[in-house]
Amino acid sequence: MKSAGLSVEDLPIRDELRGVVAYGAPQLDVPVRLNTNENPHPPSEQVVAAISAELLKEIGNLQRYPDRDAQQLRGSLAEYLSRSTGVELTAANVWAANGSNEILAQLLALFAGPGRSVLGFEPTYSMHSIISRGANTYYRDVPRATDFTINTVAARAAIAEQPAAITFICSPNNPTGTAVELRTIAEIYDAVTAHELGVVVVDEAYAEFSNAPSAVELLPGRPRLIVTRTMSKAFAFAGARVGYLAADPSVVEAIGRVRLPYHLSSLTQAAARAALAHSTDLQSAVDDLKVQRDRIVVTARELGLVVADSDANFVLIGGFGDQARAWQALLDLGVLVRDVGLPGWLRVTAGTPTETDAFLTALAAVVGDLSPIAPDPLR
Ligand SMILES: *Cc1c(COP(=O)(O)O)cnc(C)c1O
Repeated sequence: MKSAGLSVEDLPIRDELRGVVAYGAPQLDVPVRLNTNENPHPPSEQVVAAISAELLKEIGNLQRYPDRDAQQLRGSLAEYLSRSTGVELTAANVWAANGSNEILAQLLALFAGPGRSVLGFEPTYSMHSIISRGANTYYRDVPRATDFTINTVAARAAIAEQPAAITFICSPNNPTGTAVELRTIAEIYDAVTAHELGVVVVDEAYAEFSNAPSAVELLPGRPRLIVTRTMSKAFAFAGARVGYLAADPSVVEAIGRVRLPYHLSSLTQAAARAALAHSTDLQSAVDDLKVQRDRIVVTARELGLVVADSDANFVLIGGFGDQARAWQALLDLGVLVRDVGLPGWLRVTAGTPTETDAFLTALAAVVGDLSPIAPDPLR
């Protein structure tokens, strides 16, 4: 069909979506891609075989809709979370969807919407504000302290001033890598639940890379606390699109009111179940990525750059006089990192040892070329 020559702006779209650019990091075909916090290790042969076998069984049944409530998968996820956190959870505590981004969208649909607001601690995961906008919800921001921790005094003041329908806490925080202490989360939970309105959502997309305890430990006795997770990062499952949450069973039941029926395909459910059955295989890849992350931290500091402590599989590096130029210079050397829009800073994902070597070599060249001139914002 021929285009009618209309631009998007000519369409009767919602006012708050005018002039908006679609979200997404550049997907460029370069040798070393360290820009979206993916796990660089493909699934092992054993995991590939297990997933293939499960998929084959489902393919013979594709004429049927999938289990709408993904009971088996939720049971496996609950088992995995119980094992890794020591908190006893069942399928009734867990909900799964196509990536934790869909989980976040479902939470917005359930708790937020026009006339309600959402609170976040910036800089943080940009999808929290973008999904809020998509759900017609006003997003408010409390800036983090200069070391990227959450200032609880400012948080309490913001919550007291105007109760937020959802308060997002990202831990470890993307893009800074900062883990949030459980007592900080508990304090914010108390401030939020002093009002009738409001839930706290802790986004733990990178929990497996952190030595800090999980907010799952705070769930007992806190029915308005929700912890979101993903299989995209530690599980090396980004392409499969599986995210989940843990919460009180009432929250899981309530999501039934907003989710689309059969949202999670039978193929996705089968693949995720097979991957979870091999979750212990993950540990070696996760341990290796932590080693590469720490190498990046140490080497970047030796180069005179400012580096935020990281509990995730990525590192936020600052001290670039012009981070956009540094980003381009790294790309010219075949290494794609992320410009997250923080002046002076770039985010890099821990890769394989070879990819990390390539990044560190390129970084040294770039720093030599474009000497860092920005003042150290962490001190
Ligand atoms: C990568 C990421 C996610 C989500 O991803 P899905 O692939 O949609 O599961 C969620 N939260 C944060 C903070 C992330 O960095």
